[in-house]
Amino acid sequence: CSSSSSSSASIIINGSGSSTTNSSVFDASSSSDSDVKKRSEVKLKIGIIGFGKFGQFLAKRIVSQGHDVLAYSRSDYSRVASEIGVRFFSDADDLCEEHPQVILLCTSILSTERVLRSLPLHRLRRSTLFADVLSVKEFPRSLFLQLLPSDFDILCTHPMFGPDSGKSGWDSLPFVFDKVRVGSTPTRVTRSEAFLDIFRTAGCRMVEMSCAEHDKHAAGSQFITHMMGRVLEKLDLENTPINTRGYESLRNLVDNTARDSFELFYGLFLYNKNATEQLDRMDWAFEMVKKQLSGYLHHLVRKQLMLESSNTHENHVDNKLLLPENKQKQHDLVVVVNDRS
Ligand code: NAP
Repeated sequence: CSSSSSSSASIIINGSGSSTTNSSVFDASSSSDSDVKKRSEVKLKIGIIGFGKFGQFLAKRIVSQGHDVLAYSRSDYSRVASEIGVRFFSDADDLCEEHPQVILLCTSILSTERVLRSLPLHRLRRSTLFADVLSVKEFPRSLFLQLLPSDFDILCTHPMFGPDSGKSGWDSLPFVFDKVRVGSTPTRVTRSEAFLDIFRTAGCRMVEMSCAEHDKHAAGSQFITHMMGRVLEKLDLENTPINTRGYESLRNLVDNTARDSFELFYGLFLYNKNATEQLDRMDWAFEMVKKQLSGYLHHLVRKQLMLESSNTHENHVDNKLLLPENKQKQHDLVVVVNDRS
């Protein structure tokens, strides 16, 4: 079993599940500053599967923290990988034979099952830690539990930011994680915590919650945000000389959401069972507000018609109260009322 580390002064975790350390004993699961600092000596070998926009974004940060990063993807990213300091493999077998301690799935939600089923899991060490960053969580959780050998540890995560929102740093940005299955031996605990430390030390706000809870919250927040961004994108919001702050934030929303792939957006909808309910709620809310507006208008028109018809058969509705497109409707209504009287 080969141990792997890119650092000379480091705690080394090897594939067999034992560890050696040159620092004093510490609580492997603690997130106190001093234990995180001690653990920062742990250098992991991390294999990223799916080296697209988000995989590359994460890889840069992981490499900068001194971890050894390997990548495999359907497309050839060897050039961009070498620029970042990542070893790129165009064959998944070759990457797995490097025995990374962590496999980090950064594939699109829609392709994850196919990619996972195609991985040569038998080439990995028995105690490999599998993590993912998918924007939905119940789906990869059940997929991992179903397809991964029972010796593998499972950590489901979702960095709640992307290359745009996290471009100037990750400080205070939320990072959700669920330790779905992490063995209790110190090595396994340390490995999982060392992986989480990548985000901890970058300043992320660490939020531990179940995958089911995540999906409920994310449908009510992230899915709605992306949905509104996509809807507003269709309106092609122009830059005007009198943009208000509110309008600017709408334009920013379009920028922040519409740049993500449509596949990602579709995944948020299809693979989160709570998303349909949120879509129905949005339909309902839109209709409610429209009804509120037209109800108010009808009320004014009716009130004025009643008033006018009780005083005179000449009906004048205050034109100032009507939108241009309603003036014709108001005219038709007056004709009907006059005909009846
Ligand atoms: P994405 O469109 O969701 O995923 C692109 C990745 O999926 C690429 O690595 C691509 O590989 C791979 N892929 C797509 N179809 C494939 C197929 N049929 N077979 C094999 N691989 C396939 O865009 P992304 O922004 O990079 O997101 C990646 C993951 O991170 C997603 O699960 C997403 O939910 C999650 N995430 C994204 C963000 C964000 O802000 N973008 C934030 C948090 C989490 P190739 O490039 O090699 O084709």
